[in-house]
Amino acid sequence: ATDFGIDKSLRALGLADVNNGTSTGKNFFGNGDPVASYSPVDGALIGKVSTTTREDYEKVITTAAEGFAVWRTMPAPQRGEIVRQFNDELRRLKEPLGKLVSYEMGKSYQEGLGEVQEMIDICDFAVGLSRQLHGLTMHSERPGHRMYEQYHPLGVVGIISAFNFPVAVWSWNTALAWVCGDACIWKGSEKTPLTSVACQNIAARVFAENGLPEGISCLITGDYTVGEMMTRDERIPLVSATGSIRMGKIVAQAVAARLGKSLLELGGNNAIIVTPDADIKNTVIGAVFGAVGTCGQRCTSTRRLIVHEDVYDKVKDAIVAAYKQLRIGNPLDEKNHVGPLIDKDAVARYLHALKKVEEEGGKVLVEGGVISGEGYESGCYVKPAIAEAENHYDIVQEETFAPVLYLLKYSGDLENAIRLQNGVKQGLSSAIMTNNLREAERFLSAEGSDCGIANVNIGTSGAEIGGAFGGEKETGGGRESGSDAWKVYMRRQTNTINYTTELPLAQGIKFDL
Ligand code: NAD
Repeated sequence: ATDFGIDKSLRALGLADVNNGTSTGKNFFGNGDPVASYSPVDGALIGKVSTTTREDYEKVITTAAEGFAVWRTMPAPQRGEIVRQFNDELRRLKEPLGKLVSYEMGKSYQEGLGEVQEMIDICDFAVGLSRQLHGLTMHSERPGHRMYEQYHPLGVVGIISAFNFPVAVWSWNTALAWVCGDACIWKGSEKTPLTSVACQNIAARVFAENGLPEGISCLITGDYTVGEMMTRDERIPLVSATGSIRMGKIVAQAVAARLGKSLLELGGNNAIIVTPDADIKNTVIGAVFGAVGTCGQRCTSTRRLIVHEDVYDKVKDAIVAAYKQLRIGNPLDEKNHVGPLIDKDAVARYLHALKKVEEEGGKVLVEGGVISGEGYESGCYVKPAIAEAENHYDIVQEETFAPVLYLLKYSGDLENAIRLQNGVKQGLSSAIMTNNLREAERFLSAEGSDCGIANVNIGTSGAEIGGAFGGEKETGGGRESGSDAWKVYMRRQTNTINYTTELPLAQGIKFDL
C-alpha cells in the first residue's frame, strides 16, 4: 500500500491510527464492534471503524436535533459561507481523499479524483444556491391580501449511501441540505467506512472552527440494521437513500409507513442506442468507458448496447477490438483502465451473470473470468466481458453490478430501438448515438426514452452536477444535485396576509356574525 502513498493520504485525512487496527473518527458515534475495511486493490486491511449501537444512535439524533435548532436560524447565505469553507478543505485534500476513495473502493485514481471534484462542484453550486432559495408570489383573489410561498429548513435529514460513490453521493445531499438549513445524519456503505470517517472529519473540523454545533453533520456506521434506525425514526422527516432496488423497496415502505419523505436513487439498466447515422469512433469510446469504467459499478454504467443491424458488425468488431486494449490492474497505477470489483460477493454475481446469459442462449464475444497471479491477490479483479443477447433474457433485465455488456440488435425504425431501451424495469440513464437530428429529437420526445437522463452523442455515465440527477420506474423517482433538487430538503409554506379591516373569505363564501 505504501507504494502508492496510501499511508501519507491516511495521515493527511487524520486517519493515521487506522493502520494498527484501532477505531477512529472525530465526532461520530460508534461504540459497537469494529468493522474491518479491506482494500479490493490488494486485499490488505486498511483499518477498522467501530459501528453505531442503538444507544449511540439516540445520542446522534439528540445531537443532530440540537444542531438543527441553531443552524436553521442562521441566514442561508451565511450557511453558504460555511459550505464554501468546507469546499476549501476539499480542494486542499482532493488528492489524499481521491486516493483513499480509489484504494478503499477500487475505482481508478482518476475516477477517485473525479469523485472529489464532484464534491467540490456541488459545494460551489450550493454556495450560489444559498442566495437563491426562491419561492413564488401570487396574486390573491381577495382585495388587500398578499400571498407568497417560502421555503424553510426541513429538519434532520438521513442519508444512506452505496459503496460505489462513497463520498460524492453524501456531498450531493449534504451540500444542498446544509444550505437549506438541515442537519444531516449519514450512514455510508459498510464496505467503505474509512472514506466516510475521512469526510466526517473534514466537516466536523469546519463546523467546530466556526463555533457551530457538531450535530449539523453526523456520521453513523454499520450495516442495514443501522440504516433501519433512521428509516423507522419519525424524527427524520426525509431519508435520502442510494443503493439497490431491493434496498429501495424496503426503505420506501419503512419511511412511507410513518408518512415520511424518501428520496430514492436506485439501480439502473442503462442502454446506448447506436443508429446507422452514429459516429462509430465516439460510440466506441462512450460505450467502453460506460461499460468498464469503475469496473462496471456505476449506477449509470452502460449495460446494453442496442445497435442497428446495418452497423451491427462494424460496431461489434470495433468494440471487441477496443476491449483487447484494456489494461486491468491496480487502479492507483494510472496506466490501468480497469480496477477490481468491490469484493468477492460481487465477483460471484459477475460470474453468475456470465453463466446465466449463456444458459439463456446468449453468445459470449469477449470472455470474462477472474484474474489471478501477482498483483491480483485480492481475488476481485475480473475481465470485462461482452455477450450477444436478447432484451427479454432474465439476466439482461437485471442490473449486474459488474463489467458485463450485452449487445442487442435492432432492425427497421428507431421506434424498435426505443422499445427495447424502455423495455426494462429500471429508468435511470440512456443515450443515443446519431448525427441525425430527427432521430435525436424523437429519442428525447414524449415517445422517446423513459429515463431520468437521456443523452445525445455522449454515453450513459458521467453526469454533471448542474442538472437534476435521478431516474424513473424502479430507479425510484428521486432527483438530487442540480436544478431545483434542493426543494426536497425544505418544507414549503404558503402564506396569505390580510392588510385590510375586512375579513373576506376565499371563493366568495359569506359568513356573518
Ligand atoms: P445496497 O443496496 O446493498 O446498499 C446501499 C446502502 O443501503 C448501504 O449503506 C446499506 O447498508 C444500506 N441498506 C441496505 N439495506 C437497507 C435497509 N433495509 N434499510 C436501510 N439501509 C439499508 O447497494 P450497494 O451494493 O452499496 O450499491 C450498489 C447499488 O446502488 C446499485 O444498484 C447501484 O445502481 C445503486 N446506485 C444508485 C445510484 C443512483 O444515483 N441511482 C448511485 C449509486 C449507486
